[in-house]
Amino acid sequence: MLSVAHPYFEYESTETLTKTIGDYFNALLIQSSYHDRGFDFDPEFSPIYSKDWYFERFNALTSDLLFLEDEDPAEIFFKQYETFINLESDLPLPLLPVKGFFGVLGVQDAARRWLFGLLDTTAPQINSLTIPQRVWLFGNIFNNISDQPEMILTKQMSFRNPHQRGYTSNYRRLEYINGVDHHVTLVGDLMDYHRNQDVHPEALRCLQQTIDVAKQISTEETFEEYKIRNIYQLLFLEIHQMILNNTLIKKCRHCHKYFTVTNLNVEYCDRIVEGETKPCSEIGSKRAFQKKLEEDYPLKIYNRAYKTHYARVKKGRMSKAEFNTWCTQAREKLSQARVGTLSATDYEEWLKI
Ligand SMILES: [Zn+2]
Repeated sequence: MLSVAHPYFEYESTETLTKTIGDYFNALLIQSSYHDRGFDFDPEFSPIYSKDWYFERFNALTSDLLFLEDEDPAEIFFKQYETFINLESDLPLPLLPVKGFFGVLGVQDAARRWLFGLLDTTAPQINSLTIPQRVWLFGNIFNNISDQPEMILTKQMSFRNPHQRGYTSNYRRLEYINGVDHHVTLVGDLMDYHRNQDVHPEALRCLQQTIDVAKQISTEETFEEYKIRNIYQLLFLEIHQMILNNTLIKKCRHCHKYFTVTNLNVEYCDRIVEGETKPCSEIGSKRAFQKKLEEDYPLKIYNRAYKTHYARVKKGRMSKAEFNTWCTQAREKLSQARVGTLSATDYEEWLKI
């Protein structure tokens, strides 16, 4: 269920499920720790659960999950529970969440707010602004309560893809220095290449071969890696990148999900929605045309007659020239029928010829 929501959960569902169960369990325990003393306004708060009792229940609830962390999650959530029950009584205790996954749902809602406020090309009023203008507006209107950054994370940059073994040269050259053999590598030989000095001809030949390989490569620039701790950070990072790339988005008129657009006139995405065999772009435009046909009776009968006549051409019962003449006339009469100078019945009659 989670992995449908975002690919992140294919890797991190355990953490999310544990947190959902742990938060909910703690809220339940705290709720049930109030004991009515007979008068409504000041119920007695007396937590009764021991550590053993807690661990037994928590482990039963999470028995299907496989934990990789060093620390026992039961320990983590029991500590949270203890913190809550040891608080001074006038501090607010966590309320029972109305539904599970409220943490993840909160993040989803934040992402929706970001997308709508910053990038959605159909957002009323604000869509007349540029993306940088919208970022300014968003930062000042929706987010002006603190000067804290949205998040801090570690970024690693490299020339080579950190997850692939790069090109390694087999180049080895023997050199005699003071009568001793030295093995020289390509990197060693090219050490002074930037100074244009004294590079061994063999190394230059090898370099040229490598340049020829490089010419075949069409991938992009340098590599960037980010260390994220949760889905919130991942989504913020994704949206931040979209802002930097001026990515425009809108909701598909068929599946109502967001998709990126370069041409603002495009109304449908290329997803294949569950239960369909064709992408929204095909289904949607077909349906829109059908709808137009329903609303436009002269167009509907023109379209029907067009198909009949076209079939005649295919079967050789009508020449292409005759068909073209028919088309021109049929379109002229279509305009007349649409404005009412030709009645729909007369038009229908004429089309039957
Ligand atoms: Zn769609």
